[in-house]
Amino acid sequence: MYDGEQGEFVAERKTGPLLEVEDLRVEFRTRDGVASVLNGVSYYVEAGETLAVLGESGSGKSVTAQTIMGILDVPPAVVLGGEVRFHGENLLAARPSRRMEVRGDGIAMIFQDALSALNPVFTVGFQIEEQLRVRRGMSRAEARKRAIELLDLVKIPNAKGRVKSYPHEFSGGMRQRAMIAMSLALDPELLIADEPTTALDVTVQAQIMDLLRDIQRERDMGLILITHDLGVVAEVADRIAVMYAGRIVEQADVFALFREPRHPYTEALLASLPRLDLKGQELTAIKGLPPSLARIPSGCPFHPRCARARDVCTKDVPEFRRLPGDRFSACHFAEELVRHG
Ligand code: SF4
Repeated sequence: MYDGEQGEFVAERKTGPLLEVEDLRVEFRTRDGVASVLNGVSYYVEAGETLAVLGESGSGKSVTAQTIMGILDVPPAVVLGGEVRFHGENLLAARPSRRMEVRGDGIAMIFQDALSALNPVFTVGFQIEEQLRVRRGMSRAEARKRAIELLDLVKIPNAKGRVKSYPHEFSGGMRQRAMIAMSLALDPELLIADEPTTALDVTVQAQIMDLLRDIQRERDMGLILITHDLGVVAEVADRIAVMYAGRIVEQADVFALFREPRHPYTEALLASLPRLDLKGQELTAIKGLPPSLARIPSGCPFHPRCARARDVCTKDVPEFRRLPGDRFSACHFAEELVRHG
């Protein structure tokens, strides 16, 4: 909307969370058996906020994102239940045409591997322009002009010249920028970034994260950042949802979670982080491996690796419950955890 006082366009504020995922349950049915990939995932994102979804590989972070986007391979995936509400509308119950409308316009996604996400046989410019022509009805010239603006926005040098380049002519960092430009073409209100910097070197990683943060602030966009990197989370997130074995095990504001984790898994992740103030001390690795989703342990799925496990943990699944301070934990003993470090 246009803000007369500021003399510029600003994002329109709507009430309520932008996106709410509630009790999402997904399994994969293959010839080798059934894997319970999501076992009741719930989280929300507000406009202008960054939610980091943190967890080891196979914890269900990306499957949740694919379900939100409606790009899950069905079969082998089967959505057993739950809701994905965008501005209150349950997308899981929406018609395919409505889902297509929301994709790009409402919610866009960037992937870890830009090379396989971009089409190698079309120029980067064409891939941005195509969306603008089909979805916005722009003429060829208008779409080209906007594509150049978008490449400029993501700081691709000589955007006017590079708009005619093919993906393989870009470096890894430039390809990731091009994918960000493509995802922003339809002005989405929510961007899901699935491990957007994992394949890049450290300097480029920092540049891409800075770019995402700047664009998000400028547009008051919601951002779901999927990552296994606690360092990235500490720098950019407002809130964190920690996933383990297809469940959210802890959700809290970034400061509260780093200062005082309320789940032993989060506690163990933080203890495995190098810290300047503990120079010389050994890092603590989390013992064991994440469970196979085809054979999730009984009770608390983290119990075989948990240093705090007791008898009840092997039998009763802990409820994901609200704690004081608008935070959540799925541990029987969340209240007993002491200050980290
Ligand atoms: Fe550990 Fe038990 Fe808490 Fe699970 S419920 S995280 S096993 S203490």
